[in-house]
Amino acid sequence: MTPDVLISEVGPRDGLQSVKGVMPTAGKFQWIAALHASGLREIEIASFVPARLLPQMADAAEVARFALTLPGLTVMALVPNLRGAQAALAAGVHKLTIPVSASAAHSMANVRKTREEMIAEVRNIVALRDETAPQAQVEVGMSTAFGCTIQGEVKEDEVVWLATLLVEAGAGEVGLSDTTGMANPAQVRRLFNKVRAAIGGKTGAAHMHNTRGLGLANCLAAYDVGVRTFDASLGGLGGCPYAPGASGNVVTEDLVFMFEAMGVRTGVNIEKLIAAREPLKAGLPGEPVYGMTPEAGLPKGFRPMTNDFAARAAQ
Ligand code: ZN
Repeated sequence: MTPDVLISEVGPRDGLQSVKGVMPTAGKFQWIAALHASGLREIEIASFVPARLLPQMADAAEVARFALTLPGLTVMALVPNLRGAQAALAAGVHKLTIPVSASAAHSMANVRKTREEMIAEVRNIVALRDETAPQAQVEVGMSTAFGCTIQGEVKEDEVVWLATLLVEAGAGEVGLSDTTGMANPAQVRRLFNKVRAAIGGKTGAAHMHNTRGLGLANCLAAYDVGVRTFDASLGGLGGCPYAPGASGNVVTEDLVFMFEAMGVRTGVNIEKLIAAREPLKAGLPGEPVYGMTPEAGLPKGFRPMTNDFAARAAQ
């Protein structure tokens, strides 16, 4: 049974890099193993950046080596530049994701490069991949695609322009990220449609934040226009340290509940997913974790597609 959507768990990267505490390496192993055991098949496990910038990510290579032992898992890492890509490919990750800001102001604040310089960086990373690890995938997550806390509005034409150039530079996929939690469902539908019209099947994941409570609505809007990969973070951990006021990724537990309740198979066992909150809490004591479904519990008689597909088919 193939899932209908791919839930890409970004908590160990997007979540952990946004909190003050540092999860011990052994704690990360336990948490990632629990995420994998729930059926998640793509996990963004770390960011390959200098430890002095993000001490939470100092053990990225070690975490990658552990994640690579989990069967059937696509191990993804964020790399902001060529140096990060070298380290991530040397560690053996399957997939690189490069953040490229749609907002010119956020690009300078986040990576100290213009958007044009980032396109060149993507080209260099693709060349390195071709040379050293041709089986690895390279995708771009276009941050601030729906608005920017620094410059405000981001023009939709610029998002389309950038997506086209990124594909020309060799990106296998370009996803759209609401880094700052400014998106609304109408905008999500419109922008994904425009980007798909420009780059077709290379249109990638929807990465939504829940800053204003619209994370799930925005994911559903993206689903309605054909998006089938969704980034989410267990317990809603996450934000962006260089986008002031940005908080909270869409909660994986709530997203999986929504899809499974709709009859869309995620491949994720929701009970095991909720159980994966325990190693997260144990590894980051005192850090708040969010999520409506884990708080409320599963509804009486709830029969998720993923756990119960055979039983439903027999009815
Ligand atoms: Zn994010």
